[in-house]
Amino acid sequence: MAGITEFSGKTAVVTGGASGIGFAMARRFLEEGMRVAIADVEQSALDTAVRELSAFGDVMGKRTDVRSVGDLEALAEAVLGTYGRIDVVCNNAGVETGGSFLSIPEEAWRWVMNVNFFGVLNGCRVFLPLLEAGGGGHIVNTASVAAFSSGTATMTPYCASKFAVLGMSESLEVELRTAGSPVGVSLLAPGPVKTRMVDAERNRPADVPLATEPGRVAVMERLAATTAEVGMDPAEVAGQVLDAIRTNTFFVLTHPE
Ligand code: NAD
Repeated sequence: MAGITEFSGKTAVVTGGASGIGFAMARRFLEEGMRVAIADVEQSALDTAVRELSAFGDVMGKRTDVRSVGDLEALAEAVLGTYGRIDVVCNNAGVETGGSFLSIPEEAWRWVMNVNFFGVLNGCRVFLPLLEAGGGGHIVNTASVAAFSSGTATMTPYCASKFAVLGMSESLEVELRTAGSPVGVSLLAPGPVKTRMVDAERNRPADVPLATEPGRVAVMERLAATTAEVGMDPAEVAGQVLDAIRTNTFFVLTHPE
């Protein structure tokens, strides 16, 4: 039976765990007595996050680019080597870009799809067999309200990537439930959350050109301002994720009041 009722002593892996929602989930898991591995592409942010999170419990960090299956396999090996088990996996790393449709370069499309969709898919493919072999567990895939609404104009790649995460996760959940798997799946679909995500395309690799039309900066700034004004506290989102894991609930839709 999927769904975790006792968290203490169990292990969680959180990608994109150096910042924002991932960091808040890691902290919440530690507060429940779990051991936590955070994975992030940014080494310095990872080091800082591990230092801060160690005040709340037993945490490790490993630099991981979720676009790389090899990185995720190395992460799994490191976590199993350190903690001996994996119970919860949050495929949460994500990036965002904006711009009017024809101004968005192909490289930006590939970057967003590779991190937001293939990063989540890679995490499911690497960790699912380990969770099943360990007797069960839970996968949380982070999408967005953008997975339900194509009304997010000027963020076409982001919307497309989150639709893909929704479709893949829902199909996976049905497959596992039908097969009687001990692994549950949840889809986290937040509305605006106060994180640094919308500041800029901070994590954009050097080979991904920005959409250059003048309106793009204004779009991102407007988005950042709206999020800062109405966004939820990431800790609140993390609490709802914990409840969803406990009750084995698929949709975790979080919205500001
Ligand atoms: P954030 O920028 O604060 O955190 C994202 C983290 O992912 C960063 O630490 C970043 O370094 C990491 N990351 C980026 N590319 C990576 C890669 N290739 N491999 C590993 N790590 C990588 O943003 P956040 O708001 O906490 O976003 C977390 C998730 O929540 C994302 O999937 C995002 O799409 C989703 N989300 C956020 C909001 C919001 O309003 N903040 C709303 C809906 C959904």
